[in-house]
Formats: sequence, C-alpha cells, structure tokens
Amino acid sequence: MRHPTPTTTDETAPFWQGAGEGALVLPRCTGCGRWRWPVASACPGCGAPLHWAPASGLGTVLTFTVVHRAASDALAADVPYVVALVALDEGVRLLSNVVGCAPSEVSAGRRVRVAFEPAEHSGIMVPVFVVCEPAGPTRCAEDGATYVTYHRLEPHER
Ligand SMILES: [Zn+2]
Repeated sequence: MRHPTPTTTDETAPFWQGAGEGALVLPRCTGCGRWRWPVASACPGCGAPLHWAPASGLGTVLTFTVVHRAASDALAADVPYVVALVALDEGVRLLSNVVGCAPSEVSAGRRVRVAFEPAEHSGIMVPVFVVCEPAGPTRCAEDGATYVTYHRLEPHER
C-alpha cells in the first residue's frame, strides 16, 4: 500500500536506517535488557541507557481496524486497508499495517512478521506486517508485492 513519508528525527534515525536494510531495529535497555518503544533518552524502568538492536520482527495482532474511508486522498486507492496494533515478541507494541492479504484474513491473535514497503516520493522504507501461516518466519504469505525480504541483522553485520 502507499505510505506517506515518515517524519524522521536524529532520535529515530537508527529505526529508519534499519528499515532501509530490511531489519526491524528497536531500542533495548543496556541495564535490564527490556525492549523499549517509543524511544526514550533512558530506560523508563531502570534509568540505564538504551541501545539499538535488531528485533525478531515477529509478533501477534493485538487489535486492528479495517479502514474503508481513507484518512487522506493519497490513501484513497488503498481502501480497504488494515491498521493494526502488533505486539512484538520482544514485548513492545507497534502501530502498523497488515498487508498482502484480504482484511478478512486478519484477526486478533494472528501471527505476523515484519516486511518493508517504500514510502512514496522519499523511498524511505516503512515497516508493515504480513500474516504467517500458521506461525513462524519461514511459512509466510507471499503475494509478489514490493516487500523486501526480512532478514535478521546479526551484530557482526552492523
Ligand atoms: Zn532498563
């Protein structure tokens, strides 16, 4: 689906850089090890600094809505589309889209994995999610759309 160009800041630059490399990169506490989202200057739990680390990209649809009336003219051609709150396996939640299947195939509890689609004009890669059948990263729905294949960036690659 189409995506408006996201607003990027110095604070969120690693998130967008990771997306451009096909990885979901999120802040993780250097003290307690918990994943944190949205990014903060320090861990809200223990106060230790955060660092950016690759997440699994796997999660579960917590709740979702099917949009039939586009929020802007730019998205009009994409209705109906799914906006979902995804609970990542790392314990944080992302508001995103589930793409690559009919909205009727999306349900709460459905396993999803991250994929990436380019924003219009800027080409900045935007994380979206596709459903997994039935769970796990290797048996996901493929529809030939412009996804970048997800791969996990290991620390030595960064
Ligand atoms: Zn912490």
